Amino acid sequence: MPDEHVRSADPDTNQAIEHEEELQQTSLMMIASENIATPAVQEAQGSVLTNRNALGYPGSRLYPGAENIDEIESLAIEYAKDLWGADHVNVQPHSGSLANLAVYLAVLEPGDTILSLDPSDGGHITHGSDLHVSGDLYDTEYYHLDTDTGRLNYDEIAQRAETVDPDMIISGYSTYPREIDWQQIQETADTADAYHLADIAHLSGLIAADRYPSPVGVADFCTGSTYKTIRTGRGGFILSDEEYAEAIDTALFPRLQGGAAMPNIAGKAVGFAEALKPTFTEYIDRVIANARSLAASLSDHGIRVMTDGTDTHIVLIDLQESHHNIAGSEAEQALEAAGVIANKASVPNDPRQPSDASGLRFGTTNLTAQGFTESDMEAIAEWIVRALDNIREEHELELIATEIESLCQTYQ
Ligand SMILES: *Cc1c(COP(=O)(O)O)cnc(C)c1O
Repeated sequence: MPDEHVRSADPDTNQAIEHEEELQQTSLMMIASENIATPAVQEAQGSVLTNRNALGYPGSRLYPGAENIDEIESLAIEYAKDLWGADHVNVQPHSGSLANLAVYLAVLEPGDTILSLDPSDGGHITHGSDLHVSGDLYDTEYYHLDTDTGRLNYDEIAQRAETVDPDMIISGYSTYPREIDWQQIQETADTADAYHLADIAHLSGLIAADRYPSPVGVADFCTGSTYKTIRTGRGGFILSDEEYAEAIDTALFPRLQGGAAMPNIAGKAVGFAEALKPTFTEYIDRVIANARSLAASLSDHGIRVMTDGTDTHIVLIDLQESHHNIAGSEAEQALEAAGVIANKASVPNDPRQPSDASGLRFGTTNLTAQGFTESDMEAIAEWIVRALDNIREEHELELIATEIESLCQTYQ
């Protein structure tokens, strides 16, 4: 008989999982691209569905015995349609990255031109960067954020489109705290006769809760992840008009992926069902209120908050004015020692390389899921500033970590 528990099957892995649990319970988990999958989602993901190899789509699987997995995937698709209002939904992408690649494979030819936001301004590497296979397959041109305001400059996007004649324009980013005018970018795409992909990886939950403008029905394609602002566990999805349904589905399977990850698709079904309830909208309202509280408090402490605030779960700060001698990478390490897990981020026109960067990105999805409030955010801002002011004072950082641990304990 195989061992029943992780602790006996492999004590080393078990110990690392236990340590991870402890880390998550004693630190402020503020990585903006993370969240806590709900208990129901975690239960679905740990189910017998992991025993199936689901090749194909509901109603057209390659293997028999597919009745239940078809039902689950169909439910996930129906709920996604209710959440985002798209004609066609594919819930099989293993990740947001593969969702993007499937869209490219569906409608672009190698050598076509992509126009996307420069990764150092908050674009994603799957939008044609040199670090990603999309950069090998397609010619990539970038647009930029306004260096003064940190906001999109729609005129510059239109000008860049006129110059580079793109086949696809990509909107939707990794560190952009403000609303995006999807319609303006769509008009540029129409003028350029280009496809428009709106990557809502960070925004899917905000849009599902109707707390952020939706690009669905505006852009040709929307791709997203399922574990950032929506709490449905790891994975991705693609939304499109019916006319692209077949191209998208065959691009993902069989061209890009093999069998569907059924535990994750069940997680999506359960998590989407939860997101259709009013409690999810209340959760998103608290996420945004917390992010605004954090932004305001950091700003009160003399920290430059990009765009002077946020419409989302993201708070992006630029350290150059208040802590000019500290790189984002050093700040990230000091914060980790102090019990704040958040990542460095480039700011527009950043003089430092992306590996160092001059900014930090914070997210409020995880803490809000645990119950943290706006007044907690004020205390957190103080700890963050104290850590930044004492970046090389190990004792002070340890002291902050102890204080943070006791706040975390109140939410266990
Ligand atoms: C997080 C993210 C993705 C997807 O990431 P995966 O880890 O592949 O799911 C895609 N695009 C943007 C803009 C993102 O921020």
